[in-house]
Amino acid sequence: MMNVPMTVSSMLERAERFFPNKEVVSRTLSGVQRLSYRKIGERTRRLSSALEKLGVQKGDRVGTFAWNHHRHLETYFGIPGMGAVLHTINIRLAPEHVSYIVNHAEDVVLFVDEDLLPLVERVKDQLGTVKAFIIMTDKEELPSTSLHPVFSYEDLLEEGDPNFSFVKDIDENDAAGICYTSATTGNPKGVVYSHRSLVLHSYALGLADTAGLSEYDTCMPVVPMFHANAWGLPFAATWFGTTQVLPGPQFTPQLLAELIESENITLTAGVPTIWLGLLNELEKGSYDTSSLRAILCGGSAAPRGMIKAFETKYGIPFLHAYGMTETTPLATVSRLKSHQTDLDEEKMLDIRSMQGLLVPGLEMKIVGAEGEVEWNGAEMGELCLRGPWIADEYYKDERSADAFIDGWLHTGDVVTVDEEGVVKIVDRTKDLIKSGGEWISSVDLENAIMAHEAVFEASVVAIPHDEWQERPVACVVLKEAYAGKVAKQEIIDFISPQFAKWWLPDEVIFMEEIPKTSVGKFLKRTLRDIVEKEMKS
Ligand code: ADP
Repeated sequence: MMNVPMTVSSMLERAERFFPNKEVVSRTLSGVQRLSYRKIGERTRRLSSALEKLGVQKGDRVGTFAWNHHRHLETYFGIPGMGAVLHTINIRLAPEHVSYIVNHAEDVVLFVDEDLLPLVERVKDQLGTVKAFIIMTDKEELPSTSLHPVFSYEDLLEEGDPNFSFVKDIDENDAAGICYTSATTGNPKGVVYSHRSLVLHSYALGLADTAGLSEYDTCMPVVPMFHANAWGLPFAATWFGTTQVLPGPQFTPQLLAELIESENITLTAGVPTIWLGLLNELEKGSYDTSSLRAILCGGSAAPRGMIKAFETKYGIPFLHAYGMTETTPLATVSRLKSHQTDLDEEKMLDIRSMQGLLVPGLEMKIVGAEGEVEWNGAEMGELCLRGPWIADEYYKDERSADAFIDGWLHTGDVVTVDEEGVVKIVDRTKDLIKSGGEWISSVDLENAIMAHEAVFEASVVAIPHDEWQERPVACVVLKEAYAGKVAKQEIIDFISPQFAKWWLPDEVIFMEEIPKTSVGKFLKRTLRDIVEKEMKS
């Protein structure tokens, strides 16, 4: 067979040729813009050519500091399209982590959204490699900024060549992108994506048994384009000619609900905290969400109660998926096998609340203290993955040796796998609660608590204990209507039928908000500190 390289730019070329009139709907600070793939293609070519004129070389890293919108989409293709490497920077990282990753990746150019300028300005003196800042703004005038030198995105495009040919001498194993994991300890770690891995991962998103993304969809990634490339959706959606809706900087639950209704979104994607917010909004207002064929939910465990509420109250199907920055990220998706579709409703929901089946193309093994564990739904071990869109190292980082061992990625996630091959994430290794020599899953407790109708969100953490080593404590945020009206014991009584007595939290702490990570996950490290302080006082 022909050894034709898989390249990121070929995905955009397909959209230009076959779906020139399909649209990208983009919300920026000044309103909604609708651009055809023909227009996106032309602008992207201009962008690639402008980067060349600026002196960006093949293999250089080019950073983006931006929300989900059409210009960010253009950089997704325009940067790899001229041979450079797209570095999407998590705008919510601590300033010292932002400067660390820009310097570590040695970004030569930074694209910055106008409203995010202050975040970059405060670290500008630490950025050693950046030679130009390109401001993404709708306005004709550049905003005043202490960054230097600055260019206007639209001005650069004006000067760029609309007929630029995307570079062809690319080895499919060349770097096309780099993302850093949001660090919970130490500095963020970089994961480099090859052109080949991004194309193969896009195929994976299109499979009927995974997300089944297709031209028929209208796809709205709420997951930020700076979090694992919005789970690869912008690449795949462009390739398939899917209409994309990019919600921009102010994605409140109300706005998301309005966009679902007005743009007839069929598939949207994000972390559970986004969907908890949307659920709350749907309970308050009246929206037509009937266009949705699925909410793709990943990044942390989707609470069973939330899935049930969306499906039974609003008829919105959930697709629970699992992955990590290191896995591009799609690794497992929870769908029923054909022989499971006539099980009773609760059993089907049990299966679909788990993280699901390995995506075709990948391999997995589960490793416990004494080697590989059996797939019996009970034995726990660390999930290890292999495959063409699984990273094999961290970029220039000695910590690679801890995670990449004998050709396998050790995910740091403790799982069980049942006889059907369905993966269930028990916990992250560091979040498992060790009580009296046994393990308690914080995820299982959280799921159970979040099924209570008064609970908005809940997170369970371990606190040190003299006798038992660690004990679970539940932190609970009540829905507005229930604030102050629920007793701690009621929460414990509600979940106690599901667990052995020693699993039940020693304490329930009601809070106004649970601290979140830069990508919207519960920030357990900070939560543990808060709980320890609270318990002492
Ligand atoms: P970060 O490490 O920066 O939070 P990632 O998105 O790479 O960013 O996080 C990957 C981790 O998120 C996984 O290792 C796993 O612990 C968790 N995760 C992702 N999806 C799920 C899911 N569906 N259920 C439970 N945990 C999940």
